[in-house]
Amino acid sequence: MGQLTGKTALVTGASRGIGRAIAERLASDGALVCVHYSKSEDEACDVVEGIEKNGGRAFKVCAHLGTTGDVHDLFLGLETGLKERTGSTQLDILVNNAGIMGGVQPQDTMPVQFDRLFAVNAKAPFFIIQRALSKNIPDGGRIINISSGLTRFANPDEIAYAMTKGAVEMLALHYAKFLGPRNITINSVAPGITRNSNPVFENAEAVKHMSALSTFNRVGEPEDIADVVAFLASDDARWVTGSFVDASGGTLLG
Ligand code: NDP
Repeated sequence: MGQLTGKTALVTGASRGIGRAIAERLASDGALVCVHYSKSEDEACDVVEGIEKNGGRAFKVCAHLGTTGDVHDLFLGLETGLKERTGSTQLDILVNNAGIMGGVQPQDTMPVQFDRLFAVNAKAPFFIIQRALSKNIPDGGRIINISSGLTRFANPDEIAYAMTKGAVEMLALHYAKFLGPRNITINSVAPGITRNSNPVFENAEAVKHMSALSTFNRVGEPEDIADVVAFLASDDARWVTGSFVDASGGTLLG
């Protein structure tokens, strides 16, 4: 029996990259996992099938975060899926992972791009948490928000993106105090450069350059982050709340 057997989890942006690894890890620890996605339906199906092949339980839900009705769509699918499988809509673990990068220099950033970054990376997690706390997350629940090392490591090309992650980190600080009486923990995990489907990871020269930023001289793998999230989701982390967890492979050491 895994440490999360009997628990339920929602991982946003679980069709690819870090979110996928988190969904797979929480499922292998025994949780029933809701694999959320936006555009990558085939990939989300693969994640669910892979989990089931390994003896785990999962289902997928589509919702386009940053658009009108996003949280409603997400919770409609989540609650339907949970109810079918458990008879209840209880959500024990919420992982706000879905996010988009800026990739545009500050002087070229248009208001519409800025608003989109904030809508997906900061506004959506805020209202997902608000909705989950109102009806789904029981006492003793877990909330984990994926931030970025860029809140501590300067990259002038990603100022607007880094601002969204700074906002996300405030959720853990302030909510931790509010949720303590319910024994709900909330923490931020900050990855450094982590392999995903971006073609840059096919470029050996670029990978060498990115690896040099970590004290371990390699880029992060999605599983490096998933293992940290699994700890925070577990009972072992019951005394950790409101924290910023550096999962950057020592990049933030300077
Ligand atoms: P990927 O680009 O590999 O995957 C992003 C995931 O988020 C996908 O599942 C995607 O779904 C989903 N997503 C993106 N936009 C939306 C949207 N508008 N609505 C719903 N879902 C959406 O990301 P990573 O794995 O690289 O990153 C995951 C998290 O980690 C992000 O918050 C990112 O900011 C953070 N991070 C990543 C780092 C890295 O180096 N990889 C470094 C530091 C932080 P779909 O494909 O279905 O559209």
